[in-house]
Amino acid sequence: MENKEPLIITDKDDMRRWSRSARAQGKIVGFIPTMGYLHEGHLSLVQECKQHSNLTVVSIYVNPGQFSPNEDLSTYPSDFIGDINKLKNKADGVDVVFHPKDLYDYGKHDGVVNARRNDLEEGKVVSCVENSGQGHETWVRVERLEKGLCGSSRPVFFRGVATIVTKLFNIVEPDVAVFGKKDYQQWRIIERMVRDLDFGIKIIGAELLRDPDGLAKSSRNVHLSPEQRKKIVDQESLEVLEEIKSPAVFCIAAWFGNVRLLDNMEIVV
Ligand code: AMP
Repeated sequence: MENKEPLIITDKDDMRRWSRSARAQGKIVGFIPTMGYLHEGHLSLVQECKQHSNLTVVSIYVNPGQFSPNEDLSTYPSDFIGDINKLKNKADGVDVVFHPKDLYDYGKHDGVVNARRNDLEEGKVVSCVENSGQGHETWVRVERLEKGLCGSSRPVFFRGVATIVTKLFNIVEPDVAVFGKKDYQQWRIIERMVRDLDFGIKIIGAELLRDPDGLAKSSRNVHLSPEQRKKIVDQESLEVLEEIKSPAVFCIAAWFGNVRLLDNMEIVV
């Protein structure tokens, strides 16, 4: 095992300079966007990325643009030092960790916006970066794909994801980017966005990694008690699959207490 210290870059211009220089030297730059609190699922994406690139960039950034003010931005787990150690010890070959402080312009307000709950209650679509017409106001929307499944209960989520991925693509300028099929809808949305908007980036979908008890690995699993873990697993049922006659994907997005969990399974017939 290599035990290589990744270079940590926090400034977006430094990130872009590093990437341009690497690509000018003929290197293929691979990219894995994450929100940190890394686990084996994320590390499996690093291994996948290495199959398609010479250099690997992992970003660690919890994106406020995909959270509504009533969602779990403030309790999203983080452990930057632990993340770096995992990347160093387990996933040999991570060259850069891009860890920006914040990627949004908030206008006169100098931080994440939590003050617009009224707008949310009145049915206006807002995220934690919108602030009375100041600062950030440009969004990327994949109009049909963003609506179903997770999009129906989280109205700002996928435009937030598509927008931050666009921003990260413009900063990191990778050749290849890897997304987990655990977040199946997200992977398909990014694929479609890259196709529709002519990004020169190859998108790879990586297989979902589970814990031995069958639960999909997730940063949010840290909020589950051992009893909650067991019940989730027990309630999974594939009975409806008997009805399916063409390739399909079976998706679950469920609140369990205060923890929102995702899982899915591709079905080949
Ligand atoms: P996140 O940090 O949750 O935004 O995830 C970053 C990337 O890791 C996304 O592309 C996820 O789909 C992927 N990912 C998260 N958990 C898993 C898992 N259990 N197996 C495979 N990929 C995963």
